[in-house]
Amino acid sequence: MTGRLEVRGLNVVFDGFHAITDLDVTVQPGELRFLIGPNGAGKTTLIDVITGRTRPASGSVRFDGTELVGRREHAIVRLGIGRTFQTSVVFEELTVLENLDLAASFRRRIPALLRARRGVSGEVTAALETTGLTSLAGRPAGVLSHGQRQWLEIGMLIVQRPRLLLLDEPVAGMSRGERDRTGELLQAVAKDHTVVVIEHDMEFLRRFASQVTVLHEGRLLREGTVAAVQADPRVQEVYLGR
Ligand code: ADP
Repeated sequence: MTGRLEVRGLNVVFDGFHAITDLDVTVQPGELRFLIGPNGAGKTTLIDVITGRTRPASGSVRFDGTELVGRREHAIVRLGIGRTFQTSVVFEELTVLENLDLAASFRRRIPALLRARRGVSGEVTAALETTGLTSLAGRPAGVLSHGQRQWLEIGMLIVQRPRLLLLDEPVAGMSRGERDRTGELLQAVAKDHTVVVIEHDMEFLRRFASQVTVLHEGRLLREGTVAAVQADPRVQEVYLGR
């Protein structure tokens, strides 16, 4: 299985402000890794560097051995790295199925709405099943609940066949039931993909996370299992506020 991410000696500086300092992080293929830390810890900046949005002052980000630093965002997408944003990107007037079909066509580089319909592709059917949206396939995305919309976005990433998925707070604003579904979805997705998730919800982490990376003021504070991380006094001090 491919999808190994290796961040080495990463430094990101914005106008003299050190957003990330000497950061080393390794995520193994097929891992579901959670990234936590207080506001301003550098989590989003790290994702922005991986996806080519932000250029670091120094350091390297390798994906299956390929250096990502210096590549443009679209070139990094083509290497199989997909992300979600906190703001939604679904097309509300299109159905769930059409949204997935459109996302799948980005990879094939054929505009889905222009091409003759040849029925639903296998990957779209699989994404509907994985995300639990099969029964909603014909509904406009605009009527989905907040949780269903997040699952659709994850589905829209999966159909592009990435090797690494980067998700920014996927359970924010979700009901308890939706969180549970999302945790199960992430674990299912991580069977075939490497997944890195920014998430703050400790209860969610306790239930669904294995490995956690804690950032604080742009540095790696701690890495380990949820239990080990939670028991670390430094983590309690900066993150849990105890
Ligand atoms: P997190 O996602 O962990 O909350 P961020 O990565 O968004 O943290 O931010 C890390 C630090 O870098 C913050 O202090 C933030 O203000 C700063 N920062 C992020 N992006 C920029 C930018 N484009 N210009 C200047 N400062 C930035």
